[in-house]
This record gives sequence, structure tokens and C-alpha cells, in this order.
Amino acid sequence: MNTNKVDVIVVGAGPSGVSAAITIAKSGKKVLIVDRSDAAGEKNMFGGAIYAKQTAEIFPEFWNSAPIERAITEQRIYMLTDADSTLLSYRYASKGSYKAFSVFRSKWDKWCIEQAVKAGAYYAPKTIVRELILENGHVTGIKTDLEDFHADIIILADGVNSLLASSIGLKKELKDSDVTVNVKEVLQLPKERLQDRFNIDDEDGVAAKIMGGPLKNMFAMGFLYTNKDTISIGVGVSLDELKKNCIKPYELLEEMKEHPSIAPLIKDAKIIEYSSHMLPEGSFDNIAKVYDNRVMVAGDAAGFVDNMHFEGTNLAMLSGKLAGETAVFAIDRGDFSASTLSMYYKKLEKSIIIKDLKTHNNTIATLKNNIETITSLYPELACEFFETLTAADEIPKKDKYKKFLLKVIKSGCIRKTIPLGVFAMEKCLKR
Ligand SMILES: Cc1cc2nc3c(=O)[nH]c(=O)nc-3n(C[C@H](O)[C@H](O)[C@H](O)COP(=O)(O)OP(=O)(O)OC[C@H]3O[C@@H](n4cnc5c(N)ncnc54)[C@H](O)[C@@H]3O)c2cc1C
Repeated sequence: MNTNKVDVIVVGAGPSGVSAAITIAKSGKKVLIVDRSDAAGEKNMFGGAIYAKQTAEIFPEFWNSAPIERAITEQRIYMLTDADSTLLSYRYASKGSYKAFSVFRSKWDKWCIEQAVKAGAYYAPKTIVRELILENGHVTGIKTDLEDFHADIIILADGVNSLLASSIGLKKELKDSDVTVNVKEVLQLPKERLQDRFNIDDEDGVAAKIMGGPLKNMFAMGFLYTNKDTISIGVGVSLDELKKNCIKPYELLEEMKEHPSIAPLIKDAKIIEYSSHMLPEGSFDNIAKVYDNRVMVAGDAAGFVDNMHFEGTNLAMLSGKLAGETAVFAIDRGDFSASTLSMYYKKLEKSIIIKDLKTHNNTIATLKNNIETITSLYPELACEFFETLTAADEIPKKDKYKKFLLKVIKSGCIRKTIPLGVFAMEKCLKR
């Protein structure tokens, strides 16, 4: 008997891989999860917030024991012009039913893999999968630097680049327009000062999206999350935009941090970490073929990201769970064929993953075509509206509003917004 043989091998101990491994381990099957990092999550980065709904399906009541930084109780959108800003803020009224939590991947991933091991999964850190082992054209195992491992089913959860899925023809090579490059800093600030600055209590937290200002006219978005005594701040930019504008992401981040509406939030904070990572743009046309004989693909490796709504970990966890359930079914049946594993795709189709990716198909392309309107014109008009509304001066109100309305008409804002509105309505109302 081959001692290096298990029922399932999962490559990658991020949210998708761990969810798959836990689902399989809980059913009593033998599952090995391997990751190249010395410690899970060590090199993984995200914004970020994890979402309570899908996370609790894998880790019930995780908020009682997991390393949470803060519960997100306020969502902000900063619309920047060169010097001014309009801030939209949504603060949740009800406590106790949290929707999202800020976390650090280094702590979070470590805790998650500990739960997988408790559930019975074998975990091999510091294990880089160099290639997949094929027999008669079917995947039967993995080659690592030290030894080979074999399994009836392999789940590829190895993240955005997934060279392994590409190597067996399940994933197309990513184009520059298919990925964003993200940079992030973690800035330290005494807890009380952080809470005063963001107007939050002990456990509450803020998640913010930042558009316009130095990021105007390009497909780029800033983000900010409050942690216990740190702030995660970063920028994500489409790779094709970076090349077109000959700009580096950290230059954009520096400029964003210096904006008069952002600088006071991070004043005197000390940089304690810097990281960068790629992310798929997230559209239905770009997803991988997610199953074949003896193999399934989950999470970022499959392209399951909803960039429009900053969702990734939740889709990763859900897809990992569905791949895990399919693996258990196939093992019980003793049939690892593509036909049996197609059940995974059927489950994905019934879930929000495929439904949302279909809704957002072409959305990024449409937003890119209208980027000047969204990141430059809207923030400018929003600021000018508030200026008109609030400036107590000698200009009669009628003249002021007339001037503002003429600017709105001349800017082409209405003409540009109607097609966007129609596009959004068609997407949502189409069956
Ligand atoms: C800047 C940024 C901000 C984000 N913000 C959010 C947010 O706020 N909320 C949210 O839900 N999502 C967010 N996301 C998206 C989210 O991080 C991803 O969707 C999610 O991490 C995908 O999980 P995964 O398990 O599929 O892949 P990953 O988390 O990338 O994990 C893949 C794992 O595979 C391992 N691996 C890769 N290749 C090999 C190999 N050959 N051998 C062994 N191991 C290998 C890696 O070490 C890694 O641990 C953000 C992403 C970025 C980049």
C-alpha cells in the first residue's frame, strides 16, 4: 500500500482550501492540506474583512474564539476631488448581529488551519507543490520538493495565479485586464486615539472605500479598515491601467495618504507592515473550468471574486465547502470521474457564486469605459452640491442653484448616467 495516499489532497491553506479540508475531514475521510508557507497565512494578505454568513457555515460562532480585530459597524465611501471630499457613511443600528469583521490573515489563517487539524485533516506546511502527477492523462497526485503524495481527488485552492490549474488546461492565462495589483500598509496608532479619530467604541470598526482624488480617471479603488490598534490602508489598481498610466501602485497609495481628507485619519501612525498581492477582477467569462476527472478548483484559483462588492473570502469559503461536499459524495460512490464531480458546478450554480458572477459579467468593462464619470465627475459634482448647499455668502440662492444645475447639464452627467442606470437595471431584472 502507498503510505503517501489519502482520499483527498487540498493544495493551498487559504479560506477556500481550509473550508474544503474541514468539510472532508468532518465526514471521516482522509484529507491532506498542503501550503508553501512556513505558517498558514504568513504570506497571505487582503483588505480586509471576513463576512459572518459564509464564515459561520464553516466555523459556527467563530466570533467567540477566532482572532477578530473589530466588528465592522460602519461602512464609508470617500469621494475625493483633488482637495475636497464628500463622505457617505452607513452606520449599522443593531448590535449583536454582525455582518463582517476586520482580521489579519496571518492570525486568521493560522486559527482556521488549527480548526481543520482538530477536525482531523493532516496539514503539511512548508510544502510547495511543483507539479501535478498525471497517470493516463488524469491527475493522481502532487510532486513536492521532498516527496510525492497521491489521492483519489485533488482540490486546487492555490490562489489567483494557480499555475497548477493552468498546467492541466483548466485555467486560461490571465490577461493584464483580468487582475488588479494591490498594495497595503498596516499603520499603528494607540487604540484610544484610533477610536476617537473614527468615532467608534471599543469593539466597533470602520470599513471604507476611497475613490477619486489621485485615483481619478483610472480603474482604481482605495480601501481602509480599522483594527484594534492599527489601520489597514491600501489601493487596488487594474494591471492594464497601471501600465497605461506608467504609475506604480505604492505611488498612488502615497498620494492617497496625503489627501487632505485622508491624512488626518492616519496622522502620526507608524508603518509596521507593507505587502502586495494580486486579485482576479471577477467575471463569469474568466472563471476556470472548475472540475475534471479527479480534480476540482476553488476560490481565487477559479476566479471566484466579486470585486464590485469587495467579496472574496466568503466566495472562497463557500466554493471550498461545495468542493469538499462533492469530494465526499464521490468517495462514497467510489467514482471520481468528471461526470460525478460535475455536481460541484451544479452546486456552484445554485449558490450566490455563479449567480453573482453572471450578474457582474461585463460590469468591470462597462465601469472602465465610464471611469472618468465615476471617479472624477461624480465626486466633483457631489462636492460642488454641498458647497452650493452650505456656503453662506452674498450670492442669491436661485443664482447658485441655477449655476450648479447648468454645470450638471453641461457636464453630460445625466446623459452619461442614464446608460449606466439602464445597464444596472438590465443586469438585475434579467432572468
Ligand atoms: C488587497 C486585497 C483586499 C482584499 N479584501 C478583501 C476583503 O476585505 N474581504 C474579502 O472577503 N476578500 C478580500 N480580498 C479577496 C480575498 O483575499 C481572496 O478572495 C481570498 O483570499 C481567496 O482565498 P483562496 O483560499 O482562494 O486563496 P488564497 O487566500 O490566495 O490562498 C492560496 C494559498 O495557496 C498557497 N499556495 C499557492 N501556490 C501553492 C503551491 N504551489 N504549493 C503550495 N501552496 C500554494 C498560498 O500560500 C496560499 O496560502 C482581498 C484581496 C486583496 C488582494
